[in-house]
Amino acid sequence: MDDRELGHLRRCVALAREALEAGDEPFGSVLVTRDGTALAEDRNRVAGGDGTRHPEFELARWAAANMTAAERAGATVYTSGEHCPMCAAAHGWVGLGRIVYVVSSAQLVGWLEEWGVPAAPVRPLPVGQVAPGVVVEGPVPELVEEVRALHRRLHDGGRADGA
Ligand SMILES: [Zn+2]
Repeated sequence: MDDRELGHLRRCVALAREALEAGDEPFGSVLVTRDGTALAEDRNRVAGGDGTRHPEFELARWAAANMTAAERAGATVYTSGEHCPMCAAAHGWVGLGRIVYVVSSAQLVGWLEEWGVPAAPVRPLPVGQVAPGVVVEGPVPELVEEVRALHRRLHDGGRADGA
């Protein structure tokens, strides 16, 4: 993981923080071209009641609308948390390239269980079980604690200590 890639992941974490502060769940993602240019970004927007408003899903649809198949195949989606099955499927269907995530779904589910949060309505399959042709990298230890702290805040009534 070089500094440029870490920079994209730090932007994902900043977007996740922005989502949390807006009352959404702390997830953020950035779509980057083969040559390293960030083309689009988004954050979680489920607070309005539409549980499909995940950033990775939005970026997959943005890529389908705005990039050629070759450009999509060469692109990387950086994200604060591993794609859920819905987003992994969208990523696979539109033929996007690599995924780099900070925390895995397994890590997140482990923390949520530890904190007594009820299970999500969708099984937390890893990307590889949904879109087996996609190259996936993560977790990224340098940023894991920062992302964990954002999720801790979401499920702890706004306590800021990340404990
Ligand atoms: Zn998702």
